Amino acid sequence: MEVRAITPRGYCYGVVDAMTLAQRVAMDKNVPRPIYILGMIVHNRHVVEWLEQEGIINLDGPDRLRLLDQVDHGTVIFTAHGVSPQVKERARAKGLTVFDATCPDVTRTHRVIEEKVAQGYEIIYIGKKGHPEPEGAMGQAPGKVHLVETEEDLRGPSLQAEKLALVTQTTLSQWDTEDLVAKVQERYPQVEVYNEICLATQLRQQAAVEQGKDCDVVIVVGDARSNNSNRLVQVVQEQAGRPAYLVDNVTEIRPEWLEGARRVGVTAGSSTPSQIVKEVLDYLRSYDPEAPQPAHSMLEKGPIQIIPRPKS
Ligand code: SF4
Repeated sequence: MEVRAITPRGYCYGVVDAMTLAQRVAMDKNVPRPIYILGMIVHNRHVVEWLEQEGIINLDGPDRLRLLDQVDHGTVIFTAHGVSPQVKERARAKGLTVFDATCPDVTRTHRVIEEKVAQGYEIIYIGKKGHPEPEGAMGQAPGKVHLVETEEDLRGPSLQAEKLALVTQTTLSQWDTEDLVAKVQERYPQVEVYNEICLATQLRQQAAVEQGKDCDVVIVVGDARSNNSNRLVQVVQEQAGRPAYLVDNVTEIRPEWLEGARRVGVTAGSSTPSQIVKEVLDYLRSYDPEAPQPAHSMLEKGPIQIIPRPKS
C-alpha cells in the first residue's frame, strides 16, 4: 500500500506563533502567576496537555467573559481564535497581565467588521455556532453582526439594511461557503462580500482535494473539536469523492478503512502536532493487515514535545 503525505498539511503559522508565545510566557519568571489560557489555545487536546505541563491553566467554556470570572489575579493569554473587545476590557479592569495570541488573519476579520460597522453597515458573519472565533467576531460590534451557519439561518425575518457586508470565519470549507454566499447574495443583492477564509486553510483544503482524488482513502489527523480538521474530512468526501476519516492518533485507525486500498492519503488539521502525524505516517508505511492494531500511541508513553524548548 502506497502512503501519500498530502502537502501542505498540519501546523499553520497562526498556531505555531500562538504556541511559541504561550511557551515564552510560561518560561518567563517575571510574568505574574498563575497563568491562564482563556479557552483551548488551539483546538487540540495534546497541545492543551503540553501547556499544562508547562504550568499554564486552561480555562474552557463557550463564553469567554464568563471564563474571566474565574480569574482574580495573574496572567491571561487570549487564544489564536481572537476575543471580543469586552473580554479585553474586563481583563484590563481586573488588572490582569494580558498576552494576545490572536492570529493576524483573525484580527483582519475583526478590522473589516469594525470598519464596516463604523460606516453604517450591518454584518452577516458566516461561521460555526459555539466556536470561539465567531464569539470574538460578533463581539466587535454587538447587535450588528448576524451569525449564519446554514441556509436555515437565512430563512428568518429579512434584515432591513441598505448597507450590508458579509464576512466569513477563517477556517470554513471554501466550497460550503461559496454556496452559502450565493444564497445570501440571492436574498440580499446589495451585500458586499469579504471572504476571510485564511490562506493556510485554503491551501490545506485544496491539497486534500487535489491529492486526495488519487487516493483510495484519506486519513485526517486532528482533534474532534478542530473546525479545520473536520472541514478537511468534509472536503475530501464531498469534493474529491473519496472516503475520509478523522483520527486523533494512530490507535484510532480502523483496518476496515484500509481494506483493498492501494494508496492512502494522510493530511492533518492546522493545530495537530507534527509528531502525531508522523506516527500515523510511519504506521501506515509499514502497515501489515495481519499484525495487531496499535493499542498505544507515543502519547501514552509520556509527554511529547510540541515545539522545541528554547535554551534559557
Ligand atoms: S487556521 Fe488560519 S486563521 Fe487559524 S490560526 Fe491558522 S492561519 Fe490563523
